[in-house]
Amino acid sequence: MALTETVPAAPAHEGILRRQSLRESAARTYARSLPIVPVRARGLTIEGADGRRYLDCLSGAGTLALGHNHPVVLEAIRTVLDSGAPLHVLDLATPVKDAFTTELFATLPRELAEKARIQFCGPAGTDAVEAAFKLVRTATGRDGLMAFSGAYHGMTAEALAASGGAQHTSVVRLPYPYDYRCPFGTGGERGAELAARWTQSLLDDHKSGVPHPAGMILEPVQGEGGVFPAPDSWLRRMREITAARQIPLIVDEVQTGVGRTGAFWAVDHSGIVPDVIVLSKAIGGSLPLAVIVYREELDSWQPGAHAGTFRGNQLAMAAGAATLAYVRANSLDRRAGELGARMLTRLDSLAAAHDCIGEVRGRGLMLGVELVDRDADADATGARPADPGLAAAVRDACLDRGLIVELGGRHSAVVRLLPPLTITDEQADAILDRLADALTAAVRTTPGPTGSSPTTMRGTTP
Ligand code: PMP
Repeated sequence: MALTETVPAAPAHEGILRRQSLRESAARTYARSLPIVPVRARGLTIEGADGRRYLDCLSGAGTLALGHNHPVVLEAIRTVLDSGAPLHVLDLATPVKDAFTTELFATLPRELAEKARIQFCGPAGTDAVEAAFKLVRTATGRDGLMAFSGAYHGMTAEALAASGGAQHTSVVRLPYPYDYRCPFGTGGERGAELAARWTQSLLDDHKSGVPHPAGMILEPVQGEGGVFPAPDSWLRRMREITAARQIPLIVDEVQTGVGRTGAFWAVDHSGIVPDVIVLSKAIGGSLPLAVIVYREELDSWQPGAHAGTFRGNQLAMAAGAATLAYVRANSLDRRAGELGARMLTRLDSLAAAHDCIGEVRGRGLMLGVELVDRDADADATGARPADPGLAAAVRDACLDRGLIVELGGRHSAVVRLLPPLTITDEQADAILDRLADALTAAVRTTPGPTGSSPTTMRGTTP
């Protein structure tokens, strides 16, 4: 069936949405901006109870490397179910877990995998972040942590304290390379180098007020923060700075992992080898799974130092192992890099045609379009203030056109695209056609933040 065709509407749709808003907490998130009721899904496509079909570029917040219900994932799950294997086993050894660990280690940077330990954590990315912090604190006997402005590491206490949105935090905050609004006014490699020097000076200046930390955590591409790929040179500098000072480097690949950025792990681009790597989302093949993998010298935990009931999800391990193997066998990391570069080029032409696009950026199939106030003057670095109202209008117009996208960034003004790595060229074109159309419509109907009339187009929409 063609993507735009509809299936018969289900009358339950409205009632389900109404009951959700009455019963679920005020903290519900995606459900507010995406009032749909998914009932079936395959690959890039979700079918709603209202009978409409959507192209899903949210992919479970970057979880679905192979899209929805990929046959190899379903087959792996069915095999476990049909085998009679126990589904709940705490952290006991099983053939399913053994196969998952073997497959995961085969994909990791060799220097890490050869002398690595793995800890299966509670099922969410944030659980693995907490485990990483606890691990480096135990190993170093130190307490403080370093993290970056704009970061996102999760919603549990310590992970949140290391994230950009935290209000009360003891975690020392460092500048992340931020090209578009570079705090040093330069942008590019130079801005990143100045950010690295600031980090180095905080560590070396005995009067900086920053105690020697237990660890530093960073994302190779900040995702929720607004899609900021860090330059490889900056990542290498962070590796050198931390290694020279015996500070464990924790790399959070919860969102960037499993091919998303055009390399199997985003650290592969720069060649850095972290001391701890935090993994979740795609490694579970759409089911909950989270682990940390770390250098064995850091393994000074006592038995039971980090426990948890749900660390043995057999279905997630089977689905995850199948996903890792499929991405590896089909070089989907390379495909993500090539297709992402082509999509970025098309987004660049969209930016050239619309005043309201401040910047498009990304790496692989982790792409972002930042919407800005088309009437405001650019600052010294050429950046203009974010326009979250227009971004929300674009997201809504996308949904109207059967395209699911979400917003990210400091001001929720970055439209994010995280399609499955399996999409075809035609599907990529369909995504960008719908986005371009939605943008034109949103610009036509949304006044600028300063109340101006709709934007003038610079050219024709690609
Ligand atoms: N780290 C990163 C980089 C993430 O993007 C996320 C989730 N978006 C997390 C950690 C937290 O993962 P979870 O929501 O599964 O706790």
